[in-house]
Amino acid sequence: MDEIFTGNFTQQEPIPEDAIAKAVEVMRSGRLHRYNAGPGEAGEAALLEQEFAAFTGARYCLAVASGGYALGCALRALGVGPGESVLTNAFTLAPVPGAIAALGAQPVFVETTENLAIDLEDLAAKAPLARVLLLSHMRGHICDMDRLMEIARAHDLTVVEDCAHTMGAHWAGVPSGRHGVVGCYSTQTYKHMNSGEGGLIVTDDAELAAKMILLSGSYMMYPRHLAAPGPDVFEALKYDTPNVSGRMDNLRAAILRPQLPTLPDRVARWNSLYRVMEAGLADTPGLALIARPQAEAYVGSSFQFRLPGRDATSMRDLVARCAARGVELKWFGAPEPAGFTSRHDSWRYAEAQSLPKTDAILASLLDLRLPLTFTEEDAGQIARIIRAEVLA
Ligand SMILES: *Cc1c(COP(=O)(O)O)cnc(C)c1O
Repeated sequence: MDEIFTGNFTQQEPIPEDAIAKAVEVMRSGRLHRYNAGPGEAGEAALLEQEFAAFTGARYCLAVASGGYALGCALRALGVGPGESVLTNAFTLAPVPGAIAALGAQPVFVETTENLAIDLEDLAAKAPLARVLLLSHMRGHICDMDRLMEIARAHDLTVVEDCAHTMGAHWAGVPSGRHGVVGCYSTQTYKHMNSGEGGLIVTDDAELAAKMILLSGSYMMYPRHLAAPGPDVFEALKYDTPNVSGRMDNLRAAILRPQLPTLPDRVARWNSLYRVMEAGLADTPGLALIARPQAEAYVGSSFQFRLPGRDATSMRDLVARCAARGVELKWFGAPEPAGFTSRHDSWRYAEAQSLPKTDAILASLLDLRLPLTFTEEDAGQIARIIRAEVLA
C-alpha cells in the first residue's frame, strides 16, 4: 500500500496567545484606528514600525494595509506615473505587476535563471529602458545582490525590493530589503508573520519615508509616527502629496508585534523542514534541485524543484499522482492561472513580451508550501512521495 500524506498545505500555526491577548486589549479599548491613541499612548502601529525598523536596521518604517499596497506606495512615492516603464521579474506573483499597472505604468519583465532569481544579464540589457526596478525575491530566492546593485548604479536604476518571501532573510549578512532604496514586506497569512492582511515598508530616505506616510493616509497626524523623519521634512510635502488611504490599524499591529521577536526561531524551523526536503529529493534522477548561493541566508517557507525535459502531459500527470497521495504541488507551467499561481502571459493588462528563458523554466517548475504546522517527519514523507512518483 502506497503511503499517503494527510497534512494540510495551507494550515498555518495559530496566532500566539500573547498576541491574542494584545488584540483583545486593543478591541476592549475601542481605539483600533492608529491615530486614535489615548493620552501618552504611542499606539500599536507606531510601536510595530519602531520595532520593525530596528529589526531591519532601517531608519524609517511604515505599516500599511497589504504587501501589494506597500509596493504601490513605494512606486508612487518615487513618482512612477502613467506610461512609464518599470522593470520587474517575469517570475513573480500577481500583486507585483499589479502595483505597477495600478499607477498606469507598464511592467517590463526581466528573465529568470535556473535558480529562480532575476537574470542579471537580461537586467543589464533592459536597464536603459526604465528608471525603476521593482525587484521581487520570488519564493525567497535572492539573486547576487552585490552584482545587481552594481548594475543598478551603472544605469541609475532605483531599486524597490519586494520581500514578501524574504522577511528574515539576508544576502551576505545584509537583511533582505536593505539593498534597494525601499524594502516592502507582506504580513498576509501565507508569509512570515501573520495578521491576515498587512504590509511593512522600510527605507533610509527621509523624503521618501515622509511621502509614503502622507500617501498612506496620515492626514496631518504624521507627528505621531515614531519611525519617521522630523516634521520639517513633511512641511515641504504635505500640500502636494495625495492621500491614498492604506494604513495598518492597531489591531493588526497588536497581532504582529509579539510575532517579530520569534521570527528568527521560525526561520530556523522553516529551514529545518527545507533541508529535510532537499535531502529527501537529492540525487533523484530527472529532478533538479534549486541551488542556493553561499551568500544567501534564506527562509525555506516554500520549496521548489524542476523536472527538466518533461512535457506538459507528464507534468500534469505527476501533479495528479502526487495530489492523489496528499501532496499538493503547484505547477508554474499551467496555461490557465489557478489559485495564487499565475504567469506573465496571464497578466494581459501588461504588453505581451517574449520571455523564452522564463517560459522554459516555468514549464518544468513545481512548488509547494512548507507551513510550520508540518514536522520534519512530514517533510520526509512528502519528499519520499514526490521521489517515488518522479521515479514511477
Ligand atoms: C504575497 C505577495 C506579495 C504581496 O501580497 P499581499 O497579498 O498584497 O500582501 C507581493 N509579492 C509576492 C511575491 C507575494 O507572494
